[in-house]
Amino acid sequence: MSAIHLQNLVKRFGDFTALKTMDLAIADGEFMALLGPSGCGKSTTMNMIAGMEDPSEGKILFGDRDMAGVPMGRRGVGFVFQNYAIFTHMTVRQNLSYGLRMRGAPRAEIDRRTGAIAELLQLTPMLDRKADRLSVNILQRVAIGRSAIMEPAIFLLDEPLSNVDAAFRAVMRTELKHLQRQFRQTMVYVTHDQLEAMTMADRIAVMDHGVLQQVGTPLDVYNNPANVFVARFIGAPGMNLLMGRPAESDRGLVVDLGPLGVTPPLPDELAAALRARSGDVLYGFRPEQVSIAAEGRGLALPVNFVERIGARTIVHLGQGAGAVKAVFDNDVRVAIGETLVVSPVAASVRVFDAASGVAIGGTG
Ligand code: ATP
Repeated sequence: MSAIHLQNLVKRFGDFTALKTMDLAIADGEFMALLGPSGCGKSTTMNMIAGMEDPSEGKILFGDRDMAGVPMGRRGVGFVFQNYAIFTHMTVRQNLSYGLRMRGAPRAEIDRRTGAIAELLQLTPMLDRKADRLSVNILQRVAIGRSAIMEPAIFLLDEPLSNVDAAFRAVMRTELKHLQRQFRQTMVYVTHDQLEAMTMADRIAVMDHGVLQQVGTPLDVYNNPANVFVARFIGAPGMNLLMGRPAESDRGLVVDLGPLGVTPPLPDELAAALRARSGDVLYGFRPEQVSIAAEGRGLALPVNFVERIGARTIVHLGQGAGAVKAVFDNDVRVAIGETLVVSPVAASVRVFDAASGVAIGGTG
């Protein structure tokens, strides 16, 4: 059973707490990404799962087996780091087959599995090349293959693509997903890159400052962020957030954004949740979920900058606390200095408590 259950996991280094009471259940065969900015505790969590660090408090279960005191080599995990650890004096074939040879697997099995993993990772033409003559991209592929060939029930990858170039990263995202589908391992993947997490993971655990912020499918965390940290961190660009105060109008409940005017009316469910409380809020909407509206039907904001990035155009509107980004198709006609009226798609609007940053009702 290769489900992983982290129960009230805490890690302290001296008086610094790197991980604060993490509870996370990863299903057998699931691809879970640990996502967050540098220093949020992702690698610390991973190292504890691998058995390289001991928890200060809490438990790690593989299935129903407590891993306390079980050394790394006996946990049945495969581990790939950001810095590939490859034997440079060996060929690709020798690197890939290393673990099986050490285990004393029969020759025919070694050949068959080496061939299969090389094929899967497009390493077949390089099998007899010496590793010291290969590019960083290929070396990282060999490192992944060397671990994957052992078919570990649990596969841990810590930022494996951060040193490879952008084009190769895109290829590897697809290949890693194929690899996991093929072997059906439980995969835990550490990254600070939300695109990697969004494209590969079944679920994402978003972390910040040693605290688990939200666990959900990529669409969950994108559509229904639990708080403003997740709202900003997920998405490129992140969610727009504008400070305001709920106010009744003849069209229903709106958010008064002060100098930016008032928002279009809120959807009923969100309005009901807001009427049940008081205080300032952050009015949130995704840059991709806006349309250009007629005057008086949205937020009127000056265009500051237009970023044309191929298929899409990111329009930067307003300034400071009133800054908003809107993403359109590349044929949108806007010019710097003009005023654009943008209206968020009503169903995609999210509202957060301004003091705590926590999402308020009505999501989904
Ligand atoms: P990065 O991507 O930069 O590695 P991360 O989210 O993986 O970030 P961790 O490496 O888990 O973060 O580190 C979390 C915090 O714990 C950081 O502030 C780090 O400085 C601290 N930390 C990690 N290992 C140790 C250690 N051995 N001793 C003291 N502090 C540590």
